[in-house]
Amino acid sequence: MAPGHPTQEVCIMAGVAFLNGQYVPLEDAKVGIMTHALHYGTGAFEGIRGNWNEADGKMYMFKLREHYERMLRGCKMLWMDPGYTIDELIQITIEVVERSGFQQDIYIRPMAFKSEEKVANLNLRSLADGFMCLAVPFGNYIDSDGAISCQVASYRRIDDTMIPPRFKLSGLYLNSILAKTDAIAMGFDEAILLNMDGHVCEGTGENIFFVDGDTIATPSLESNVLPGITRDTVIALAREELGMKIEERSVDRSELYTAEEVFLTGTAAHIQGVGSVDYRNVGDGGIGPVTRKLQDLYFPIVRGQNPKYMHQLTVAEPKGAAS
Ligand code: PMP
Repeated sequence: MAPGHPTQEVCIMAGVAFLNGQYVPLEDAKVGIMTHALHYGTGAFEGIRGNWNEADGKMYMFKLREHYERMLRGCKMLWMDPGYTIDELIQITIEVVERSGFQQDIYIRPMAFKSEEKVANLNLRSLADGFMCLAVPFGNYIDSDGAISCQVASYRRIDDTMIPPRFKLSGLYLNSILAKTDAIAMGFDEAILLNMDGHVCEGTGENIFFVDGDTIATPSLESNVLPGITRDTVIALAREELGMKIEERSVDRSELYTAEEVFLTGTAAHIQGVGSVDYRNVGDGGIGPVTRKLQDLYFPIVRGQNPKYMHQLTVAEPKGAAS
């Protein structure tokens, strides 16, 4: 979306961000052009959804603690300390959501970053850290309610020996961005990356799953995937609620073409059915029955509509956007 697009402007006007220890209107939350993270991607961030529950007027955030645990692991990798405990980060997030006031689905973006305004310095340990958190209205991540088309990317997933992909590090996302941009330019909805061994890794912002009979396979964590929070959730739901077998293993590219069902998982993408890969239909090209069952289980859980899973949710009560 081009800068200044009207809908984005409305969102920015209404939001409240946390930056440098203070809550400020999103439109005033700025950093300088010498900020280290802007030049080199030295940030560790999270993508969190706030799911609006119209019936009880509350915003539900799923597995917030797990998101911040992952962010802090990324901080450790980058010699960063955001300066807040996980409990404090959770409180800041609730406050940002409540002050922003949006009564609709939102996306929450916390990021710890090298905030020092020093450009020609590649030594992480000599640079100061900052932390910010913002929330914006958010609908579908992938512009499709049906099964999507995917392309196996020509870019390979970055290896742990290059930039560790098990953390959400800002600079790492150039890899995803190049793959996704090419896929969309060629008419696909999403790219699937292979790792340096040539095995299936993940989508550009999603983990990947394959269904065959009563078994669901997904690339193991050593395949250079991000340890997805939705990935963990889906594994548990498939095992415990559907009684399916889960295999975390190396997955071959050819399995992409022959699986009965393929789906992607991510906080932004939720559980997304894949209808085709490289122009070959997966199953009948629609959303498969196991994918559908998992979606039917997952959506009520993250929206606070399944009492069994309420303990995995953090609640905020936004009172309406000021705009
Ligand atoms: N892989 C990548 C590369 C991602 O960016 C994401 C989104 N965070 C995921 C997988 C899915 O992770 P999660 O379910 O924790 O959102």
